[in-house]
Amino acid sequence: MTHYISTRGGVAPVDFETAVLQGFAADGGLFVPETIPRVSEERLQKWSKLSFVDLAFEILSLYIEQTILSPDELRHLLSDGFYRFEHPDVTPVVPLETKPNTYILELFRGPTLSFKDVAMGFLVNTVDFFLKRKNDWASLVVATTGDTGPAAAHASAGKKSIECWVLYPIDMISEEQARQMTTLEASNVHAVGVSGCPDGGDDLDLVLARMFADDNLTRQLKLSSVNSINWGRVMVQAAHYFYSYFRVVDRVGEKIVFSVPSGAFGNLFGGYLARTMGLPVKAYICANNQNATLHRALSTGHFTKEDLIPTVSSAIDIVVPYNFWRYLYFASGGDHGKICQWMDDFKKQGSVQLDSQTADAIRDGYISASITDEQTLSTIADVYQSRDGYLLDPHAAVAVAAADTLANTFASDTKIVCLATAHAAKFPDIVRKALAVKGELPEQAMHKSIDRAKELFQHVRLCDCSKLAQALTHAMQSVTKSRA
Ligand SMILES: *Cc1c(COP(=O)(O)O)cnc(C)c1O
Repeated sequence: MTHYISTRGGVAPVDFETAVLQGFAADGGLFVPETIPRVSEERLQKWSKLSFVDLAFEILSLYIEQTILSPDELRHLLSDGFYRFEHPDVTPVVPLETKPNTYILELFRGPTLSFKDVAMGFLVNTVDFFLKRKNDWASLVVATTGDTGPAAAHASAGKKSIECWVLYPIDMISEEQARQMTTLEASNVHAVGVSGCPDGGDDLDLVLARMFADDNLTRQLKLSSVNSINWGRVMVQAAHYFYSYFRVVDRVGEKIVFSVPSGAFGNLFGGYLARTMGLPVKAYICANNQNATLHRALSTGHFTKEDLIPTVSSAIDIVVPYNFWRYLYFASGGDHGKICQWMDDFKKQGSVQLDSQTADAIRDGYISASITDEQTLSTIADVYQSRDGYLLDPHAAVAVAAADTLANTFASDTKIVCLATAHAAKFPDIVRKALAVKGELPEQAMHKSIDRAKELFQHVRLCDCSKLAQALTHAMQSVTKSRA
């Protein structure tokens, strides 16, 4: 049965429950399954007729021991995690008529209108389930570039075993996203707006990594995290590739392409799992904006961090794509020594030159592009003003623009699924700019939950990044005391 090991190889294998509750492995590595399960074409045929939740159940069953979660428990956690999605398909697929063989996979139909809801509902439910079973509670802390925070806050609201702390860089996320975190009337959700962080979410992650590295503090504050390094999220993110594949192909076995707006490589690592399990994927397009760490690594073998450039697709303004370590681990043939060396070098110098074998391996089934803000905005305008009249959010637009850029790479009858990771209503100012509208926005750029949040109080703690560790520790200690 599946066990989880650290990419750095420094801890004994753990079960699913431990991997999920710990987040990071104790040696600073990321948890990965010892082996990735394979699925036969016969089984794919059977899966092709399942609903999203039933399909997710089949996939997750391959990664979770029944002694940890019984089939009934798993099914219950999944149904609960997805019932608040507003579309019966959970992640519906929409064909674009004006772009032949191009489909939009809508990952934004959950309660906070982004792709983060897809995995967060299930993960937070599961954490809550494990904690209750142990008669325990935890402080879930997440840093966000705008969408993880709202998803974590909504999934945690009202859960007795969880205190949820969401940290966001003020001025680097939209007002709509901030309000999704600050307007919840839930005493266990704590929003923290942080100023003075030029590298945005990456700066916040650094502060958190330092807190997590302190064992005493971690124990005292019961720190845990549901950020994108948590195995529980990455695993669920394989399901939408399978589900959408079955919606668009003429027959199981046909090879298709996915274009994925990428930041921390969590969504694409879900894709890696799906392809390795046996999903017939010709290639993944790693679609970056101008923060192109992944594009550089894939195209040159040089994994380097550069200064963050604020863009119109802010959720992927990420210069340290954390889940890439998981991919490098498998691409290097499971070489713990190399991962340790590279992680340490990257931390010290912000750059790693991969050996040529690994550099070739990471290109197997992956191509990439870096998209400018001008391309993003014109893609939004073009698709909206076409016969389709479909409104892309800025992140989906990065995916579509990358697919356009790389279209010549594939035979013209190859189907391309572009992942739409957010609802346009989360980014009204960008939509306004793209469509050059002054007054009322198109209906597709509105959502009732966003409008409702405008009429509510905001509850937020404010802080400068240089003081964040102290202030957060103090506030968390006080909450811990009040729970004792
Ligand atoms: C998080 C996010 C992404 C990027 O996903 P990764 O797993 O970090 O690559 C893309 N688009 C939106 C809207 C997001 O919130």
